[in-house]
Amino acid sequence: MGKVLLFLAVGAVVWWFWRKARARPEAAPSIPKPAELMVVCAHCGVNQPRSECIESGGRLYCSDAHRLAAEQAGGGRD
Ligand SMILES: [Zn+2]
Repeated sequence: MGKVLLFLAVGAVVWWFWRKARARPEAAPSIPKPAELMVVCAHCGVNQPRSECIESGGRLYCSDAHRLAAEQAGGGRD
């Protein structure tokens, strides 16, 4: 009798831990993306999302080519 109860108790604990381990959220809840901040390229003035911009010297550029172009044009200050 006592062994059966012990077995059930252990089984319940194991089941509880198993359930808890499986309860981990695998897929993140669908949080709506915040509105992407649009910024202007310092070289050509085109608008594009902040995350796609290249930042250099506190300025934002639409592409690496424009970053280089702007640096070559405006660089060399003494
Ligand atoms: Zn540009």
